[in-house]
Amino acid sequence: MELYGNFKGGECEAFGLPKTHKVLFAEVGKDFVDFLFHILSLPIATVIKLLTKNGMVGCLGNLYSSIEKLDETYIQPNQNKGKVLNPKHPASSGAQLPLLLSDTEAVASNKIYMCPGYHRNASHDPLAVCPQCDKYMNVEINCIVPDLCEEVSSGGGGFVKGLVTYMVMDNLVVEPMSTISGITLLSKFNVKEVGALEERVVNITMAEGLKLLQASLQCSTVLTTVFVGKAGASA
Ligand SMILES: [Zn+2]
Repeated sequence: MELYGNFKGGECEAFGLPKTHKVLFAEVGKDFVDFLFHILSLPIATVIKLLTKNGMVGCLGNLYSSIEKLDETYIQPNQNKGKVLNPKHPASSGAQLPLLLSDTEAVASNKIYMCPGYHRNASHDPLAVCPQCDKYMNVEINCIVPDLCEEVSSGGGGFVKGLVTYMVMDNLVVEPMSTISGITLLSKFNVKEVGALEERVVNITMAEGLKLLQASLQCSTVLTTVFVGKAGASA
């Protein structure tokens, strides 16, 4: 992805970032837009679990660790802490979040179960009960996933269409690039000299994915917070 802005260094707005030292926008492909949009489908417990390792602000982290610490004797016998602390991802989204979740986590969330009598009911939860035979649907069955590489190369995977370049603002407003002219862009950002605009190419790793998720919850200058002042962040 390509960043456009002024990269002299700086921090989150909350820490007094001078307005001139910032990322104005990023020019990105569908992969990055898919990544951003799928953040919205993450269960909040997953977000907390991901961020606790990197430091979580607010009080939701306390809720999470309260459940972690709570002795099993206080919990209803038909419930378990694991279900709350490690929620399953909506399998219907069909997409994975390589920038945030390891492959094993993503695959584990897509397990499908049937009852021992194979009564044409399926569930993602092995604790579900078959309405026909009243037995636990705990027989794991094979889930056949179409070849993702083929889908992606033809632009069919993920959420948004490929073959289009998207523009992501510092505050994570996303628009297709094609609908914005260069001149509109410059006036929109009040850029008086095109020469003042620098360009920088960056790669996103899992570490940046996590920082991005965290910054998106904390400030309105996400790209600046994650990428500005990071020397040698070239591709
Ligand atoms: Zn059954």
